[in-house]
Amino acid sequence: MTLPEILKALNLEAENAGVSTGNEYNGGTAAKLASYTPVTGQLIANASGATAAEYNKVIDKAQAAFLEWKTWPAPKRGEVVRQLGDELRKYKEPLGELVSYEMGKSLREGLGEVQEMIDICDFAVGLSRQLYGQTMHSERPNHRMYEQWHPIGVVGIISAFNFPVAVWSWNAALAWICGDVCVWKPSEKTPLTAIACQKITANVFKRNGVPEGVSCLVNGGAEIGKLLAEDIRIPLVSATGSTRMGKSVAVATAARLGKSLLELGGNNAIIITENANLEIALTGTVFGAVGTAGQRCTTTRRLIIHESVYDSVKNKLISAYKQLKIGNPLDDSIHVGPLIDQDAVANYMNAIEQVELQGGTFVVEGGKLSGVGFESGCYVKPCIAEVENHYAIVQHETFAPILYLIKYSTTEQAIAMQNAVPQGLSSAIMTTDMRQAELFLSAKGSDCGIANVNIGTSGAEIGGAFGGEKETGGGRESGSDSWKAYMRRQTNTINYGNEVPLAQGIKFEF
Ligand code: NAD
Repeated sequence: MTLPEILKALNLEAENAGVSTGNEYNGGTAAKLASYTPVTGQLIANASGATAAEYNKVIDKAQAAFLEWKTWPAPKRGEVVRQLGDELRKYKEPLGELVSYEMGKSLREGLGEVQEMIDICDFAVGLSRQLYGQTMHSERPNHRMYEQWHPIGVVGIISAFNFPVAVWSWNAALAWICGDVCVWKPSEKTPLTAIACQKITANVFKRNGVPEGVSCLVNGGAEIGKLLAEDIRIPLVSATGSTRMGKSVAVATAARLGKSLLELGGNNAIIITENANLEIALTGTVFGAVGTAGQRCTTTRRLIIHESVYDSVKNKLISAYKQLKIGNPLDDSIHVGPLIDQDAVANYMNAIEQVELQGGTFVVEGGKLSGVGFESGCYVKPCIAEVENHYAIVQHETFAPILYLIKYSTTEQAIAMQNAVPQGLSSAIMTTDMRQAELFLSAKGSDCGIANVNIGTSGAEIGGAFGGEKETGGGRESGSDSWKAYMRRQTNTINYGNEVPLAQGIKFEF
């Protein structure tokens, strides 16, 4: 589809209201957020952002909506989310294409992101009948104890540019079936995809009589994210982005004893052992290192290679990188698209300089691309450097396709290196030796939230809990029992006897 066709299919205009409570209020008078596609550098459209007063209006509406929404039976809420999944199936193509245009990831990845939204809707529908609490035996006679999970309230969702739609849906679909209402502050770099999602959702909600304010959007920059983090009316803020942002949100929510669910930066490594199937290892590595132009939280950044296969892996990677095609991500034959903007290119160039200054050697050179097809100034070459794990630049997440090669001799040493970074998101070991695999997965192994065997670090299935430790923030989203973060737990005790047994045998006379 052409860009005008995509915008038309998604009901988007040149100027779009970026603040919304659903159908009744669509506005925003703060400075416009211009959305430039990194594919061509062209201005796609403008979105309006929220002022502090408009933000407050949205939260008031969300609070009022919560009072009604929480009384809907969970399976009925699930039915609405089921219909949202169906609607997303209908809009998969234009929405996936808009994700590619606005963010710069490949069309397949853009469509894949919308598929993740559909998948989490399906998951949430089933979950809406499984919000189980436990029952336990009371120590007192004729008493029954159990726990229930209740909706928590307004959930603030702050999202990053690199997954402009999927991460919101991971949070929103679960929060809605749990009985919460959502206020979404998307990345200021991808305001249009967020408006498209809000419009799709508003239509489904309207059809079902869902109260105005259950799905809210507040476009804007970090200042709007800060309002959410500091807002006492918001019991849970789920924030996805850099560790710098997460530390700020964690402090602001903790200062008011609110909750935060943090999904922050990664510095993911694959260990390639002497027992690895090299074909699997290399496929996982190249996909993980250059996919989304190195702009995934789960991107493979470090390759920790056994000394006996080091040269062979290095040479195969050099030859694989020679075959990479860089260019327009909407062209199916292209492997690597652009970075999000020119600031990201500057960070990439700075990291390359630091690698050399700190003692690293490039075996595949990087650099910025220019000329026909690269007019946006956002295209760079994926590169590979030989380094040591302790270099300051290696310890840092650079959001670009730079892969570091590190040599090791024992499995214990490799695991220690894999863990010796501040972040703890995704990790992998390539081995056909069961003992090495089990060691990696044991308490003596990877310290990450995700640990894989013979699969790369990149990507995840929505059925598992997604997230990581240390500077990755400790949050878990999506599958397994992540839904519990969006609810409050209540312990109930019922006395069905004729006596009130008090602790320490205390008795009152009446
Ligand atoms: P970013 O931190 O610059 O921005 C993310 C969001 O936070 C944006 O909406 C931004 O406006 C907002 N924000 C920034 N400062 C804020 C503050 N002080 N208070 C409140 N909100 C604030 O991140 P980015 O460049 O958009 O995304 C890339 C980063 O996100 C990478 O570090 C990547 O690893 C991480 N990420 C992590 C996950 C995960 O699940 N762990 C997923 C995707 C991206």
